[in-house]
Amino acid sequence: MGLDLDTAMNPYKYAYELRFDSGRSSLDLLATSHPHEHLDAVGPLCAWIRGAGLVPPDTPLPHADDSWPAAFRELRTSVGRLVSDWLTRTHPGAYDVALARVNEAACAAPPVPRAVHADDGSLVQELAGPPECAALLAAVARDAVELLTDPVARAGLRQCEGDNCPIVYVDTSRGRRRRWCSSEVCGNRERVARHRKRAALARGQLPGMRVL
Ligand SMILES: [Zn+2]
Repeated sequence: MGLDLDTAMNPYKYAYELRFDSGRSSLDLLATSHPHEHLDAVGPLCAWIRGAGLVPPDTPLPHADDSWPAAFRELRTSVGRLVSDWLTRTHPGAYDVALARVNEAACAAPPVPRAVHADDGSLVQELAGPPECAALLAAVARDAVELLTDPVARAGLRQCEGDNCPIVYVDTSRGRRRRWCSSEVCGNRERVARHRKRAALARGQLPGMRVL
């Protein structure tokens, strides 16, 4: 897929190098700490909120303040713990702090979309009012609740096989053979590494082999 098409589909992806490859907003939230912290300011967080589809694309968020990134990072920690527990089949016991936090965040009402007429007469989505931080957190927390309680969806959870890549996605591919968070990122890196190894073998050199 070309860059232009990608940008057209999700312009927020490139503004802050955000990733939306996992198939779920709760997993895309986990990806915001890789390879560095993206949610360290209001600007990238608002780009993430729009890119993840929590609000219609042009929704203004002028009321977002410095407390928002911290709240999203906190939810990210709890969701990350639950996902990691599932992937490693860890059973934390009766009182699970991360679970309690995600459930609490899910209690709030998520943003309410409504259909309105655009200039050309078609229907487009907009929100009934400016979304509160708690409503946006609720949308992500509910996604995590739905994902982790759905036996089919959670069985498709995979961590990318790329070197040191922590991104977790839902594998919905036929035969469940997806190996990468993104074929353009980790898949491409693997192809390049394989090509280099083949080229080195053809020259009679392996990586690390001393040339006499
Ligand atoms: Zn990856």
